[in-house]
Amino acid sequence: MVFITSCRLGFIGSVSFPDSERLPKFWYDTASSHIQRSLLYENSVKTARNIILFIGDGKRSGQCTFLCGSLQPGDGHQALCDPQTYCTDSQVADSSCAATAFLCGVKSNKFTVGLSANATYNLCNSTVGNEVHSLLSWAKDAGKSVGFVTTTRVQHATPAPLYAHCPNRYWYSDASIPADQRKPGCLDIAYQLVHNIRDIEVIMGGGRQHMSPQGTPDIEYPNENRYQDQLDKVDPERTDYLMGLFEPGDLAYELERNSSTDPSIVEMVDKAVHILRKNTQGFFLFVEGGKIDQGHHSGRAKLALYEAMLLDNAIERALELTDASETLTVVSADHSHTLSLGGYTDRGNPIFGFAPQVSDVDGMPYTSLLYANGPGFRVVNGQRSNPQNHSHKDYTPQAAVPLVEETHAGEDVPVYAQGPWSHLFKGTNEDVFIAHAMAYAACIAYKDNTENRDPKALKRKKRRIRDYETVEIRKAQTNDGAIHMPTKVQNMKAVNSKVL
Ligand SMILES: [Zn+2]
Repeated sequence: MVFITSCRLGFIGSVSFPDSERLPKFWYDTASSHIQRSLLYENSVKTARNIILFIGDGKRSGQCTFLCGSLQPGDGHQALCDPQTYCTDSQVADSSCAATAFLCGVKSNKFTVGLSANATYNLCNSTVGNEVHSLLSWAKDAGKSVGFVTTTRVQHATPAPLYAHCPNRYWYSDASIPADQRKPGCLDIAYQLVHNIRDIEVIMGGGRQHMSPQGTPDIEYPNENRYQDQLDKVDPERTDYLMGLFEPGDLAYELERNSSTDPSIVEMVDKAVHILRKNTQGFFLFVEGGKIDQGHHSGRAKLALYEAMLLDNAIERALELTDASETLTVVSADHSHTLSLGGYTDRGNPIFGFAPQVSDVDGMPYTSLLYANGPGFRVVNGQRSNPQNHSHKDYTPQAAVPLVEETHAGEDVPVYAQGPWSHLFKGTNEDVFIAHAMAYAACIAYKDNTENRDPKALKRKKRRIRDYETVEIRKAQTNDGAIHMPTKVQNMKAVNSKVL
């Protein structure tokens, strides 16, 4: 895909542009070929056997532009739309309500996981009856293999709505639930990862610390160089279930990663696709580049943008391993950040470098990347500071407003799609549209969006869901007044098979 490979070119820092771009014919031909590809995809209405969703956490619309100088529409028949990312109670989304939207197809309140807006943040007894289910559970019910990969802990806000329903995104383990909220019976996110959805085939990321009793010594750090080695040795042909937790918490930034102990997101996606694609009924894979967001929060643009680049590499790897005629691949973000690219820089100007002109107000240079807020705000002797050492990996571009952590931004984010039904992704939509469109493409949802295509299947599905929920809610209410989340058969195959 051109847009992926061109992202990598941004680091080369060429000072000129291709000669072909001097001729109008280049632009006419480029536009014409994009039109032809769009026409091809209008006719691609075959059911998508596989669906893959890549989310760059906090990957703003210009992120690829920052790296490559121009965001090229790819040669992979991409469609593009701009979903709006607000949550029911918030103009600017946090990762949990955003993820609930694009994974479960329902807008919700900030800091809540896998619940409708009827549930209240931090209030355990507001959860029962307000659970919403994700693409992962819909795909599992349809007989597909399912899995997810993240560079954060697997209990983090973005992957959590895949399998959990929780009124507080930070209730990773029971130790983090306040006693008064534990009493009504709310279950932590790690518990729900194991119990809520039957046999998730692939779970990879960080988060070991939340899977064992408090105070348990971590098994990696007395025994270095263990986990990467283990992942390398996993034979996907002989492995049906894989849980790989490579750090106690979130994984390391790519620029700080020890490649002998921790896999990259590309390696995790490679292994995940190899395992999942064995199912003849297809698969659903969710992939989150979660450290993009954390890099931005710390104001360190270089760390964040390298994370975005690795996510692009992971997308490329997944596309290589799948057949575009039967796999819908969607790439988007949950929300944006306040980073901007300004200063009339030339093509090929180093992306982490200065704008070509000094300020015409204070006569000082400035970097072309700037945050609207965050830790990059600095004043020295009554003036903004003179930016130096800006190529260092930890350099924080200047920010207009001082904050300990840079914030999310509320603008629309882009969606790219390739494969069957990718032409659905057009125009400006709510972010909930992503879940519904992907389910429609794979014909798996129990929502109304399959009704026109297979009414009998929808009826069966609705009955099954209703029966299931009735039983579970009754169970929950008869347990000494305690309220429990719905539980299914334990996900013990994953836990007992290959635990890395
Ligand atoms: Zn964030």
